[in-house]
Amino acid sequence: MDVESLERDHGGGEAFYTYIHFDVGKGDTVRFWHDRRISGGEDCDWHIRFGRAFNDWEIEEVASFFQLLQVKSPTRVDVDKMRWDLKKNEAFDIRSYYLALRGSENISFPWKGIWGVKAPRRIAFFVWTASWGRILTCDNLRRRGIILVWWCWMCRCSGETMDHLLLHCPVAREIRSYVFQLFGVEWVTSGCVMEMVAGWRNWFGKHYSEVWNLVPHCVMWSIWRERNSRTFEDLEHSVDQIIEFCMRSLFDWAKA
Ligand SMILES: [Zn+2]
Repeated sequence: MDVESLERDHGGGEAFYTYIHFDVGKGDTVRFWHDRRISGGEDCDWHIRFGRAFNDWEIEEVASFFQLLQVKSPTRVDVDKMRWDLKKNEAFDIRSYYLALRGSENISFPWKGIWGVKAPRRIAFFVWTASWGRILTCDNLRRRGIILVWWCWMCRCSGETMDHLLLHCPVAREIRSYVFQLFGVEWVTSGCVMEMVAGWRNWFGKHYSEVWNLVPHCVMWSIWRERNSRTFEDLEHSVDQIIEFCMRSLFDWAKA
């Protein structure tokens, strides 16, 4: 998994930026107010040597020459480099990030409900990030100072918070109620993602819940995928198509 897909699929979240700093070169990729940075070596400056002393009548011209130089400082040639604080060699790796996030683990966190199911690892990682409230929904982006239209891409009304998008949005409800009907279950949606995942596992008992345990991953991943398709690709599927994708994934993961 690379940084880009981590960011795209899972948001990576605010935590990601607390573990990097920039080695500034040209400075064109560094956000001045937001990114932590160290200067890239010596400051760039002009060093001018004149072949002879000036005459009195030339002073003004020399002064304006220096003024001109001041606004045209030489630019650095090196590109900006991103450094990862959690590794000695400063290169990003997923394991160190994982361990850093896991450091704030608390006892009631639903580890088995997230990692102990047959879903692909990257999907489990997405659910894990969502359970920490760290995927990049509008509310989390706004906290990072990124201003955008604050609506839910699925129902196009309420402001998009993570719990709204994945749990309380009418579209999320419709998809879940389809699944509940399939399993013949009545279910009251919990307040937040972590609670839902925690209460979900082994509802049909330890030996009959293998497929059921995959449902939160399946439903939330289908919604997140559709949300990103609408946001970034301007491509919209109907609720029926989302449900179809969700069911196909459930089937594929269950038989894998
Ligand atoms: Zn919505």
